Amino acid sequence: MEDNCVFCKIARGEIKVEILEETDNFICFLDANPKISGHCLIIPKKHFINLVDLPSDLGSELLFMIKKVAESKLRQGFEGFNIVSNNFSVAGQVVNHLHVHFLPRKKGDSLKILE
Ligand code: 5GP
Ligand code: ZN
Repeated sequence: MEDNCVFCKIARGEIKVEILEETDNFICFLDANPKISGHCLIIPKKHFINLVDLPSDLGSELLFMIKKVAESKLRQGFEGFNIVSNNFSVAGQVVNHLHVHFLPRKKGDSLKILE
């Protein structure tokens, strides 16, 4: 755990967020500055800086978590989703604690990704 990491503080419960989904090693909560309705973040509870830093044996649990969030959002009426992970500052990573953006999609919404 890193003392000054905002996502470690969320994982430790020092910053209160509504946890949407949780597994042994990951949590999902709403992004504070959503790019679209339902935009949420999946993070490991432990401090790993980026995907390169994440132990590979947590990879299947991360995928399981992404699918869990996806199933929930699809049940809520979203029709698809994008997942985005910015790794290293050159790629737009601002918070240096691994996170996957989950962006639920509906036909006709305004979000543009890789277009
Ligand atoms: P990055 O550019 O590092 O991929 O994105 C970091 C994301 O974390 C941003 O979308 C930002 O809105 C979100 N974020 C930063 N601080 C907080 C916070 O304290 N609470 C929540 N819920 N999201 C945060
Ligand atoms: Zn951290």
